[in-house]
Amino acid sequence: MRQNMIAGNWKMNGTSDSVKTLIEGVVSGLSADQKCDVVVGAPYVYIPAVVAATASSVVKVAAQDVSEQDKGAFTGEVSAEMLKDVGCEYVIIGHSERRSLYGETDQDSAQKYMAAQRHGLTPIFCIGELLEERENGTTEAVCARQLDAVIEAAGIASLANAVIAYEPVWAIGTGKVASPAQAQEVHAFIRNKLAQLDTAIAEKVQILYGGSMNPGNVADLIAQPDIDGGLIGGASLNAEDFLALCQAAG
Ligand code: PEP
Repeated sequence: MRQNMIAGNWKMNGTSDSVKTLIEGVVSGLSADQKCDVVVGAPYVYIPAVVAATASSVVKVAAQDVSEQDKGAFTGEVSAEMLKDVGCEYVIIGHSERRSLYGETDQDSAQKYMAAQRHGLTPIFCIGELLEERENGTTEAVCARQLDAVIEAAGIASLANAVIAYEPVWAIGTGKVASPAQAQEVHAFIRNKLAQLDTAIAEKVQILYGGSMNPGNVADLIAQPDIDGGLIGGASLNAEDFLALCQAAG
């Protein structure tokens, strides 16, 4: 039986003070018998503070990106080894904002995914279609292509140590959530695609939904058989909302 996960993506938001307030609110509000995995994706500079604040809780810390390189003359980059060194356990890879704003290709994302795994980080690997791709009927082809880049580079077995996040780009930060049926259809497609290569991996891998998930719509989404939680942007910046999502997910 797969466990749900609620993963926050704080993006480029916060200050030392607001991050402290947010993470302390999350840690103190989580129930002692929290059943779902809880992850927060902090900006790089706040990761050590968030790791310290979550040390005696179930909350795990993610970075929002990572270099595909291990070390060396790559000004401005942060390696997977560094993230592991400061206590990160997860890293968000291939978020649509990295793909659309910074030109990250499927192959770039696959290289970052492999760098993360080389250093013991669990990738939260994001895939999802643009609005025009949904409208022209290529949602499944786009998700398959994005997933295939990782499977070809790292192998199907690598997904034993990864999380997939299906994030329709038209639903991210727009308030326009996919209906539970729309999301379930794509999640089932992803799981069936993986099952053609390895049924055990397909059964085990957590597939999160991302895109305007909030306390009002979470229950119907995670009630779907192939939705194992959420990757949350906006609602993860408010401790009360984030805690409501964690509670709904178990
Ligand atoms: C995201 O950026 O991954 C995301 C899902 O954002 P939001 O929840 O704000 O739509």
